[in-house]
Amino acid sequence: MRWSKALIPTHKEEPADAETVSHRLMLRAGLMRKLTSGVYNYLPLGWRAIHKVERIVREEMDRAGCQEILMPVVSPAELWRESGRWDVYGKELWRVQDRNGRYFALGPTHEEVVTDIVRKEVRSYRELPFTLYQIQTKFRDELRPRFGVVRAREFIMKDAYSFHRDDASLDETYRDICDAYDRIFNRLSLTFRPVEAATGAIGGSVSHEYMVLSDTGESEVIVCDCGYAATDERAEGVVRPVQGEEDPKDMERADTPDAKTIEEVSEFLGVEPWRLVKTIIYEADGKPVAALIRGDREINEAKLALALGTDILEPASPEIIEKVTAAPVGFAGPVGLKGVEIMADHSVEPLVNIVVGANESDAHFVNVNRERDFEVTAFHDIALIAKGDECAKCGRELNSFRGIEVSQAFKLGTKYSSSMKATFLDEDGVAKPFIMGCYGLGVSRTVAAVIEQHNDEDGIVWPMAAAPFPVQILVINVKSEETMKVAEDLYGKLRAAGVDVLLDDRDDSPGAKFKDADLVGVPLRITVGERGLKRGAVEARVRRTKEQTDIPVESAVEEVLKLLETLD
Ligand code: ATP
Ligand code: MG
Repeated sequence: MRWSKALIPTHKEEPADAETVSHRLMLRAGLMRKLTSGVYNYLPLGWRAIHKVERIVREEMDRAGCQEILMPVVSPAELWRESGRWDVYGKELWRVQDRNGRYFALGPTHEEVVTDIVRKEVRSYRELPFTLYQIQTKFRDELRPRFGVVRAREFIMKDAYSFHRDDASLDETYRDICDAYDRIFNRLSLTFRPVEAATGAIGGSVSHEYMVLSDTGESEVIVCDCGYAATDERAEGVVRPVQGEEDPKDMERADTPDAKTIEEVSEFLGVEPWRLVKTIIYEADGKPVAALIRGDREINEAKLALALGTDILEPASPEIIEKVTAAPVGFAGPVGLKGVEIMADHSVEPLVNIVVGANESDAHFVNVNRERDFEVTAFHDIALIAKGDECAKCGRELNSFRGIEVSQAFKLGTKYSSSMKATFLDEDGVAKPFIMGCYGLGVSRTVAAVIEQHNDEDGIVWPMAAAPFPVQILVINVKSEETMKVAEDLYGKLRAAGVDVLLDDRDDSPGAKFKDADLVGVPLRITVGERGLKRGAVEARVRRTKEQTDIPVESAVEEVLKLLETLD
């Protein structure tokens, strides 16, 4: 590709609203442009990187025995009603209507559609197991689109679905696909770790997420030296007690004017944050419930939903909170709370003389004691586990790291096949629901993750496997005929040898072109200039190591091909 004719709009300036390195560099290096919130155009360099990743994904999925198909983006609401997800998915499901007012979903994931294909086409256990996959544009109306293509509303995903007659077969395919994921992320030179994950709206029992280690990652992963690793959403652990011996005191009401948050109330009353027990009102399946957690900790909503046995859990609206507590938002407490279940985290159990909202504006109760002053319906592990807590498996202190989730695998079991009546005839002649697995990998997010791990102060440092071009030829002065002749000759011969080359033939200052070369990060740069040619040489420079060597013009093609072999 000739840069003079290519759409590679690079920028010197830092983009204003980009918070992460990958987001900034994808904009500055002209890989993509935002169309609207969470929706991006991929320009030539970005699209080439996407293709590189897609190709690796395809090769490894095919090697794992999966078959590629393409399902529609649009699917009828009826299918989603059959599985129950038309309601469960909430606002993230992008819903559209056709001219007759019929509802459709723009696919965020395709369990329903693929289950519909299979229930119509597959009859016998003899046809099992098999795995179908596609690489396709997905839609999710994310609450907070951010970090560019890391959390977009329209993005590219590889999604795969496996069908089995029994759990042993599912286990085998699950392992094969996890092996394929290991190969994919290794080929992309990513530092990553598979970790145990919660199953969320997709459902199922066992799940793993592949985390690319990055400080800008949105996921917090809890790890232990014993090998335990899980997302914070999923992680189990023991919250250590903080309170020493204390005798229960008499409960009192305290005025707390204008103090609502934990910090404000603890400062105003002069007590430690942990002593303030938070009361959070949720709606579970439309029914209000109260959840209690120590003031210095957060609730894990996934665990709370599990404890309540519901799929639909949301923080209650201000109207509901005011109705349940008979007070404005911010003063909820368990004392005298009527008509709602009270779920509490285990860490609340040993506490005495706590502070809670008084269900009254600008007031709290102090020296509150459970059993004497209020009743808890049930205790559960509903805390978000954090670094410093105790490992539930071995008792050691837990650690944490941040990561970008690039893929997730689920053992779905019969969640979709049962609700959608997708069955096969087993050897014994009995109709049984398919046992399923599903495996999603964010292709566009993976490109961002690669950049997040491969960059320096000058720009992107592409690993070979994802680079839009392996080689760039930079012509110092395009007005020099001799220089252009050598550059064109090398360009033509490398292309004839099957190498994708970016030829910077722009009539621009060498300084600007060197800066751009570093910014777009092509692994090998060949500079052709008059000074070098006097010595009969062009200059090869490796982007990652900044190593520079002269190579003779006559053998430049062979030398470049040899050098490319050594890079990864
Ligand atoms: P997250 O927790 O980040 O929202 P998820 O658990 O909803 O992800 P899955 O449903 O497992 O994601 O989707 C499979 C893969 O698709 C993810 O691992 C991720 O790489 C990618 N992905 C999910 N949501 C987005 C998004 N909004 N933008 C870009 N990629 C996404
Ligand atoms: Mg999500």
